[in-house]
Amino acid sequence: MSQYDVIVIGAGPGGYVCAIRCAQLGLKTAVVEGRETLGGTCLNVGCIPSKALLHSTHLLHEAEHNFAHMGLKGKSPSVDWDQMKAYKDEVIGQNTGGIEFLFKKNKIDWIKGWASIPAAGKVQVGDDVHEAKNIVIASGSVPASIPGVEIDEKIVVSSTGALELPKIPKKLAVIGAGVIGLELGSVYARLGSEVTVVEYMDAVCPGMDKDVQRSFKRILEKQGLKIILGAAVQGVETSKTKAKVKYQPKKGGDEETLDADVVLVATGRKPYAKGLGLDDLGIKMTERGQIATDNHWATNIKGIYAIGDVIEGPMLAHKAEDEGMAVAEVIAGKHGHVNYGVIPGVVYTTPEVATVGATEDELKAEGKKIKVGKFMFMGNARAKAVHQAEGGFVKIIADKETDRILGAAIIGPAAGDLIHELCVAMEFGASAEDVALTCHAHPTYSEAVREAALACGDGPIHS
Ligand code: FAD
Repeated sequence: MSQYDVIVIGAGPGGYVCAIRCAQLGLKTAVVEGRETLGGTCLNVGCIPSKALLHSTHLLHEAEHNFAHMGLKGKSPSVDWDQMKAYKDEVIGQNTGGIEFLFKKNKIDWIKGWASIPAAGKVQVGDDVHEAKNIVIASGSVPASIPGVEIDEKIVVSSTGALELPKIPKKLAVIGAGVIGLELGSVYARLGSEVTVVEYMDAVCPGMDKDVQRSFKRILEKQGLKIILGAAVQGVETSKTKAKVKYQPKKGGDEETLDADVVLVATGRKPYAKGLGLDDLGIKMTERGQIATDNHWATNIKGIYAIGDVIEGPMLAHKAEDEGMAVAEVIAGKHGHVNYGVIPGVVYTTPEVATVGATEDELKAEGKKIKVGKFMFMGNARAKAVHQAEGGFVKIIADKETDRILGAAIIGPAAGDLIHELCVAMEFGASAEDVALTCHAHPTYSEAVREAALACGDGPIHS
């Protein structure tokens, strides 16, 4: 039996970051992970593999659609799907191996296997029971389906199956127009699949600003994705090689059917805490099956904490990481903190879509007096040079009286990076004028951020 200051359960971005910070703060730390490799959902079957496929298919799209126009002529590349998947696996391997290296560097023990918590202060893995003054549960999440739709990972797949399809489907139906559905839908559309996305709500990316949703949908449709909104999926029927998605238009009318070779179910994820023995321990859960925690990520049982996808809040890797660092600080007797008002969200399509803070609708519903500064990428020289100016914009929402930035959305090139200028501004309580008065290098995409800030005041220059 070994004794630790902290045992972390789960080596996803929440768990591994927590463990590294614990070790840096001088705590004897171990991580239990049941998967063959470290990094959790994010590195193995989430953020990283999806971005590798988005990158390779983006280049394919550029070669097919924009190279000749830029004077790059010749044979356009053909797709070797097996090699593309091998490249994706190589990227996964580099990243998961990187975490293993960091564990060794920080003297963190990786206990291989599936953990349960027989009592506070004890973690069982197989026949071994380890003791820990503190336990951090970072067991993450798994794909969720909807009634009538059974995932078999062959014809009806989750995101995990969609990253590993044996061949590129002729027709792909995607249930759910959220981040994962649109990212993977884009990948297959670029690979030549006929992609149809069916969404229950009346807009893509529910929760985003309406103008962002409208522009994003138009851009995706121009790229060849078919998007059916307001459609309640009733079920999926499968034969050996085909599927039929049955959906009921919400506005009324007959049930409709969509034929597909593969159906991707991208209707969200659910927290995962199976096998931990939380019921017997008496750990409080929320109505949505998450582990309930207080403001310091403590559960109702002393010495047991929880972070990441398994607790409340957006299911995002960087939210899990921030909580991982913060809870480590709390355990070490410091003041861990996460500002939940400034957590960016990014869709890694081309163009990217990024948001932070409140939306216009949310603020209006609160009765807040706001002003909106918007700048179209059509006025940004650099965006035009990379074929990503059309339809994109930067939008900054500021308090009408104080000019303080309350939220922002960007749809355009490198939006996922640009958004951080506004995150930092929000962290510092900056006004739109602070951003507008900051010199921005030319020609950069970030000039569009400054122009949107100028639009909150006397007006942008290039529109
Ligand atoms: P996880 O990453 O789910 O890790 C939990 C780990 O705990 C797993 O490895 C699991 O094996 C292990 N575990 C569970 N129970 C036990 C046990 N009893 N014993 C031992 N080990 C256990 N987020 C972003 O921010 N950006 C993105 O671009 C992005 N893209 C995504 C794309 C896809 C296709 C998917 C599916 C998700 C994506 N996400 C993205 C979400 C992101 O992956 C998650 O928010 C993040 O991984 C959550 O981290 P976590 O540490 O809470 O849990």
